[in-house]
Amino acid sequence: MRPLARSGTATGHQYAKKRRRSLPLLAGALWLGGAAACAVGVQEELQLGDQYAAEVDKSMPVVHDAVVQGPLDAAVHPLVAVAARRDLPWTFRVVNTADVNAFAIPGGHIYVTRGLIEHATSYHQLAGVLGHEIGHVDLRHSARQIEQARAASLGVGLGYIVLGREPGAAENAALNVVAAAVFAKFSREDERAADHAAVRYTTAAGIDPDGLVEMFRILQRVQSTDPGAIEQFFASHPMTADRITDVQQTIAADPAARTARTGKQDAPLFHELQRAVRALPPPPPPPKTQKGQ
Ligand SMILES: [Zn+2]
Repeated sequence: MRPLARSGTATGHQYAKKRRRSLPLLAGALWLGGAAACAVGVQEELQLGDQYAAEVDKSMPVVHDAVVQGPLDAAVHPLVAVAARRDLPWTFRVVNTADVNAFAIPGGHIYVTRGLIEHATSYHQLAGVLGHEIGHVDLRHSARQIEQARAASLGVGLGYIVLGREPGAAENAALNVVAAAVFAKFSREDERAADHAAVRYTTAAGIDPDGLVEMFRILQRVQSTDPGAIEQFFASHPMTADRITDVQQTIAADPAARTARTGKQDAPLFHELQRAVRALPPPPPPPKTQKGQ
C-alpha cells in the first residue's frame, strides 16, 4: 500500500525542499545502461534499498524513536518470521504524516504512516497491511521495477521508479515528490499477489487474516470522508471493487486461513504503538506553495 497527495504531494514537496539539490544527484547516480544482465541480485537490491531508504529519511518525517520503534518491531516480528526472504535485513519505520499509507522499497525497507496506525483499531488490521508490504518485497515487485528500468537502458534513480520512465529536467526538480512516491505504482496483479501473501503470512503467524479485509473497509471509509488522506495509497495500490471479495475468497478457499480466523485479532503491543504514535509531535504542516511542481 502506498500514497501521495492532499498532503501526499504536499508532503513530498514539503520535505523535499531541502533535498532539491541532492535529488538530481540521486537520479543520475545510477546509470545502469545496457539491456543485458537485467537481473538485480540480492546484494544490489540491498545496496539500492539502503540508498533509497537514506533518501526517504531525508525527505520524509521518518520517526526514529525507541518508544515507537519497540512496539512496531514487536508487531512485525511474527510476520517477518514467516516471510519467504527471512534473510533480508528487514527495517520497518513509522512516517509522521496524517496520510493513510504504507509502502515498501527494495531490500526490505517498509514504511507505515502515523495516519494508518491511528485509523486502525486492532492488531490484525495493521498486520494485514504489513503482510501486504512484506509480500511486495518477498515477491520482488520493487526489485523488478529496477530490472525493467535497466532493461530499458535508463537510469535507476527513484525518479524512474516513481514515473516509470526517465524524468525530464523539470520533473527532476519536481521530484521532491520522491517522498511521495518511493511509491511506485504496482499493477493489479501485483496487488492481488501481495494481498494473497498477506493472507499467507498472517495465517502462518496465527493472526486472523480477516484483518486485511477490515483494513480495506477502513480505507474505504477514509476515502469517503477524507479522500485526500488516502490518495497516495490508492495511487500506488489500486483498490478495485473486487479486491475485498478476492481476499475473502482466498481465505475461504484455504483451510489453514479459515482456521486462523480464530487466531489473534488484537494485541496490547498494537495499542502501545498507537499510543506512542499519538504522542508524537504533530505532523509537519503541508508546504504553502507547491503548485506547478
Ligand atoms: Zn500494494
